[in-house]
Amino acid sequence: MQTENYLIRKASLEKLFSNLIGNGKTIYAPKTKGERTLFEKIQTFGEITEDYIVTTNSVKSVVFPRVEKVFSYHKTKESTEITDASTQIFPEVVLWGTRPCDAAAFIPLTDTFNGDYPDALYNKRWEKVYLLSFSCSKCDDYCFCTSVNGSPGNIAGSDILFTKLSTGDYLAEAITEKGKKLVAENQSLFEAASLEAKEPNLAKVTTYFNQDEIQAKLQNLFENPVWDEKSRACLGCGSCAFVCPVCSCFDIQDEKHGSKGSRLRCWDSCGFGLFTLHTSGHNPRETQGARWRQRILHKFLYMPNKSKVAGCVGCGRCSRSCPADINILETVCSI
Ligand code: SF4
Ligand code: SF4
Repeated sequence: MQTENYLIRKASLEKLFSNLIGNGKTIYAPKTKGERTLFEKIQTFGEITEDYIVTTNSVKSVVFPRVEKVFSYHKTKESTEITDASTQIFPEVVLWGTRPCDAAAFIPLTDTFNGDYPDALYNKRWEKVYLLSFSCSKCDDYCFCTSVNGSPGNIAGSDILFTKLSTGDYLAEAITEKGKKLVAENQSLFEAASLEAKEPNLAKVTTYFNQDEIQAKLQNLFENPVWDEKSRACLGCGSCAFVCPVCSCFDIQDEKHGSKGSRLRCWDSCGFGLFTLHTSGHNPRETQGARWRQRILHKFLYMPNKSKVAGCVGCGRCSRSCPADINILETVCSI
């Protein structure tokens, strides 16, 4: 992938933001609220925080909302009229301030929604998204992107990657056609530059394990006491799945009011006891251990087996948010 490399001054970065808003784009960015930093829709450059490692929530809800209408229907005596939600026009959205792990997460997420049946709703939102990521200058003990083929300056998935320099200016790598087009539309804000100054300004993230070795070990670990041991504290709350930028489980619910109704897609989690419960009463994943095994095997064995990309980008959100203090990095390292 041939990137176009530039320097952009801090004042020009703010101007870029104003231009994007002025062009009618909706912008989501990290915003501090109390002790948390959340990805939220914002209006002004001043709302953005730069002082965060990763946001508490992921940005997947922009293309895969927590609850969304798939279609609505109206039944009459003669017929049923269906309105397909994917026919609506979606706005152009800029995800400003995604971390390289957040951007990389859209690779397996988009793959999931383009399996046997490409998902029109997901794809229509996704094609309107611009990913303007910022490299990580700091990390914490929960981060492990370098163990799953990522890095604090990884360009995979982003349209433009900015790296803050010690001068307060930013290196800008325009990676995709979308990113290069955005730069071209705002060319006066960018100056030609080389990437020499990038590496010294990146966080140093420890590499704890090798994804390929874990994948090989997991081939033979389906029946193993480790799953019950590791999941003993798990409450089955689903927080880990809801904050994860790659998790994509959903449930379908119908909401009906008289002759009208909607079919809704709602986030779900393989950690919930009801997730695999059959109508017959049989549950193939009866214990929390079986559910925890599914979570790990899906991310580190089944997904890389199928599409060569793990279902985890090492952001550490699940571990930070777990009320039972279960740490996915510790789990994987102990296998
Ligand atoms: S967040 Fe923790 S307690 Fe909740 S389901 Fe995930 S692992 Fe279990
Ligand atoms: S499983 Fe945890 S560490 Fe991996 S991508 Fe999801 S939230 Fe991040």
